Amino acid sequence: MGLIRLRPRPGASPSPPAREHERDPIVRSLEPVVLSEPARDPELPVVTPVQPAESAQPNEGEAVPSRNATRIIAFANQKGGVAKTTTTLNLGVAFHEMGYRVLLVDLDPQGNLTMSQGLNPDVIERSMFDVLVHKVPISEVIEHREVDLAVASIDLAGAELALSSLIGRERSLEKALVEVRNAYDFVLLDTPPSLGLLTINAFVAATGVIVPVQCEYLSLRGLVQLENTLAMVRENLNPEVGVEGIVATMFDGRTLHSREAIEILEENFGDLVYRTRIRKTVRYAEAPVKGSSVLKYDPTGAAAEAYRELAREIVAAKEAEDGAQARKHA
Ligand code: ADP
Ligand code: MG
Repeated sequence: MGLIRLRPRPGASPSPPAREHERDPIVRSLEPVVLSEPARDPELPVVTPVQPAESAQPNEGEAVPSRNATRIIAFANQKGGVAKTTTTLNLGVAFHEMGYRVLLVDLDPQGNLTMSQGLNPDVIERSMFDVLVHKVPISEVIEHREVDLAVASIDLAGAELALSSLIGRERSLEKALVEVRNAYDFVLLDTPPSLGLLTINAFVAATGVIVPVQCEYLSLRGLVQLENTLAMVRENLNPEVGVEGIVATMFDGRTLHSREAIEILEENFGDLVYRTRIRKTVRYAEAPVKGSSVLKYDPTGAAAEAYRELAREIVAAKEAEDGAQARKHA
């Protein structure tokens, strides 16, 4: 089985991409923590192209980014405090700066993403709860801030329970996004620190998953659990979804611990680990207090630049992958 689906990231690493036989020992070494998982088909599922987005006018004077498909990316890790929300927001704003149309969706009942754009989840009347549970159109809960944001409220804490008795409970978000997905190039989903029904909804709606991991407390076991959940979603609900990248956050190059964490990640996941590392700095905590991304709060700082670089790397990786696919079908 593929532990986590690898995809090549051309030009991203001086070492050649991990080959099948090189991956196997890693997979085996991680398998003992896979609880009661049946052996899976060694064939890795193929990425299915998503629906092309409707053409839209770019901002005047801006380069036209290639817009052939909406990418719906879930930012997930069942551990809290690994920078899921920070990455969702700042990457979203970085994509927007590049000229892409971006929607962020706050699926965490804690509403940190909503708060980080200066909105108060405690006083929001209609939120993703109503979208998921009462089928309110998602366009009705989108606020226009630095980028568009479908907001969370405290009600969302009851969503897992309310959804659990609904038919099609895992597809609620996927259905809600049909209304708006063609209006965006990127839909970024911020998930709660669990692998419950809200995160499952994100996996079902997503074209890919990006996993932020904290260099300070690297948990390979946690990554295996996440991949097991994703494998279940792939088998039953969304064959195209897989981990498209792992982003190392809170990296402190001065500590051996941080450097070792990167080494372990790269040994286990090869090119899946983005070359861009997000360093540890207090800027990331300061910005949300001001209700803004770090790109707006400190536009010329290194913290902002890190997420711009990650955005470029993610776009380049997809372009390289699309190019390889096109050549394969030519
Ligand atoms: P999650 O959504 O995974 O729970 P957050 O994005 O809320 O994680 O980040 C957790 C805390 O760490 C927040 O206070 C955030 O401001 C801070 N943080 C995020 N990224 C960094 C970083 N690179 N360096 C230092 N602090 C960070
Ligand atoms: Mg969060």
